[in-house]
Amino acid sequence: MYSEKVLSQVINWRRDIHAHPELSQHEQRTSELAANVLESLGLEVTRNIGGFGVVGLLKGKNPGKTIALRADMDALPLNEETGLPYASQVKDVMHACGHDTHTAMLMGTACVLSEMRDKLNGNVKFIFQPAEEFNPIGGAPGMIKDGALENPHVDAMLALHVWPLYETGKIIMKAGPQMGASDRIFLTINGQTAHGSAPDQGIDAIVIAANVITGLQSIVSRSISPLESVVLTIGKINGGYRYNVIPDHVEIEGTVRTIREDVQARMSELITRTAKGIAESLGGMCEVKYVKGYPPMINDAELVNLVSESVKKTSADLFIVEQPELGAEDFAFFARERPAVMAWLGCRPANIEAKDFAKLHNKKFCPDENCFKFGIDYFVQSVIDYLG
Ligand code: MN
Repeated sequence: MYSEKVLSQVINWRRDIHAHPELSQHEQRTSELAANVLESLGLEVTRNIGGFGVVGLLKGKNPGKTIALRADMDALPLNEETGLPYASQVKDVMHACGHDTHTAMLMGTACVLSEMRDKLNGNVKFIFQPAEEFNPIGGAPGMIKDGALENPHVDAMLALHVWPLYETGKIIMKAGPQMGASDRIFLTINGQTAHGSAPDQGIDAIVIAANVITGLQSIVSRSISPLESVVLTIGKINGGYRYNVIPDHVEIEGTVRTIREDVQARMSELITRTAKGIAESLGGMCEVKYVKGYPPMINDAELVNLVSESVKKTSADLFIVEQPELGAEDFAFFARERPAVMAWLGCRPANIEAKDFAKLHNKKFCPDENCFKFGIDYFVQSVIDYLG
């Protein structure tokens, strides 16, 4: 289909970006590459939008609506273990979330659509976004603040994410919530130190921490409706001095994932109440800091209807899922501003089982490049259908 002519170029771009990954807020080389390609296609290009963000504007021949397509550009602080010939040349930095593929596919999409401008009724904005992995701040809010959605006003937005759970050839989406909100919690417990043989003379912060962690687990099971999607994970705990000293200080960190904003607010309230209450009942104190991160990723139902018809016109298989996942995505900030759809692009070769295939944020993550054509065709067909 549309992608055929650009596929080998897209693979080259992707491998080049993969070999030269850049961390969040450091996407200088990658954004330069994207901006240069957009300029070579004759698009109006604006650089340094919200940091290293790039916006390219393709004006169709006839006036009409404006649809924006977004790719993220940043990599993760991981040391690659794929053994690929084009593996990362930067120690401890790796494209382990597939943002290299998103950037390359969007560049390829710009090539295809720029050749069709005479047939387009309206505009296409190509948004290359930095700092997707920079939770809780992200890169989308900075681009929105710097005007990426205005001039011309963006009417709808689409984005793709490679998704290793699904086979190459599938495009996956759902109307409504598709991904969760991701918040962070920081708990500081204070007690009083004493000799390990005389606990009555101190206030044991580790025993308080143990009770707090156990107590927090009953929030989800006892205080939130069983029909809601919520996760509370404590991922880090730090405290103590020596085997025979009663510790006076413990720090705990965790994450909270929710779909609904009222449940999110309730979690913040309940975590604070439970942790403080338990700590005080044992004579200590607990301070709770609840930091809101990315909002839930909500797909616009009407736009899902439209682009799912577009998928059916391509060679990809459309797969509508019923359940959201609780991973987070800062495209959600764009989706709060405009009707938007985040679709997942299957990227697992059919001959490898899901359990044997490295997932996102894994040092061995290696998406199937055969998925690129489905991603590009999806973008192109959706733009054509949206602009009419
Ligand atoms: Mn990602």
